[in-house]
Amino acid sequence: MPRKPDRPCSYPRCPELTDGQYCSWHRREEYKKYNRFKRDEFSKRFYSSPEWQRLRKKKLSQNPLCEHCEREGRVTPATVVDHIVPIKEGGAALDINNLQSLCRYHDDVKGLKDRGMV
Ligand SMILES: [Zn+2]
Ligand SMILES: [Zn+2]
Repeated sequence: MPRKPDRPCSYPRCPELTDGQYCSWHRREEYKKYNRFKRDEFSKRFYSSPEWQRLRKKKLSQNPLCEHCEREGRVTPATVVDHIVPIKEGGAALDINNLQSLCRYHDDVKGLKDRGMV
């Protein structure tokens, strides 16, 4: 069996040898980066779409206050419309029932939770 020649990984300064472009570790890294990029592209397009802008306005006129603050007995104007089930987890992007109005603070908290950081 002829063996494929090993080449150095294309990642800068990575000493691993590979028969592809990247070593197995950096192949995974590149794949993750690519997925993140795709997702960013999608959200940029989605959040600037007229459909979303319209739905967002409708939601804010129905619930002008932060729904989390309301639950805690506080009254804070909402500045953010958030997906209860994130789109990337299969939540409906344009379903008003999957939306909640949040203040800046609660949006940050939820964002961290979604990323598994709280
Ligand atoms: Zn590498
Ligand atoms: Zn709040």
